[in-house]
Amino acid sequence: MVKENKVMDEKIQLFKELINESKNIVFFGGAGVSTESGLPDFRSKDGLYNQQYKYPPEEILSHTFFINNTDEFYSFYKAKMNSLKYQPNITHVKLAELENKDKLKAVVTQNIDGLHQKAGSKVVYELHGSVLRNYCMKCNKAYDAEYVFNSDGVPRCSCGGIIKPDVVLYEEGLNHLTLNNAVNAIASADMLIVAGTSLTVQPASGLINYYSGNKLVLINRDATAYDTKANLVINESLGKVFEEIEV
Ligand SMILES: [Zn+2]
Repeated sequence: MVKENKVMDEKIQLFKELINESKNIVFFGGAGVSTESGLPDFRSKDGLYNQQYKYPPEEILSHTFFINNTDEFYSFYKAKMNSLKYQPNITHVKLAELENKDKLKAVVTQNIDGLHQKAGSKVVYELHGSVLRNYCMKCNKAYDAEYVFNSDGVPRCSCGGIIKPDVVLYEEGLNHLTLNNAVNAIASADMLIVAGTSLTVQPASGLINYYSGNKLVLINRDATAYDTKANLVINESLGKVFEEIEV
């Protein structure tokens, strides 16, 4: 145990040195970034996808289901996807501080909860959209998350149209502009931190192949298929790693 701690200390020390010598850091994060704020992970063993519902969550969160069973979609969505009551954790905060110091250029995230922005991050590429943005399907009027989560039944626009969250559902493609921005940020990064993701969800996981530098850091509780490509692998909780970072 003492020896393991020493190895971990050395890895975190190296992580700090890599951050210090980098000027164009990009952070690529998955569900693990948000679970440390208390949000359930969609895909983990004890996450949403293994809970009991009338339909499996991956079916409820599909485009077809949204169109055909809008009422049931929203009862699930409002019960399980409301991130408004959660707060950013130390990782979100340190990333925002690194951006503020002009060392970090972008956060690319698979999360839809808006916690990076809540922590103060400005450049955030949300591959799967955000619960914070919602639009009327008829007239395109924008609505905030409070309006949607606090509505009774299916949230409706003043024009009568149904409001849809700007979240990428199953069967829907990623936003091209967001994807392009993420690719460009990763391709030009001098350091890429990939954290809180098992890198199993495509096409998001393929994004890290655009990184061509020699400071690829993977931080995840468990091993990933990309560990052999990384210059540094830290199997530790994100919060424990980021609380050591001095900005
Ligand atoms: Zn409308």
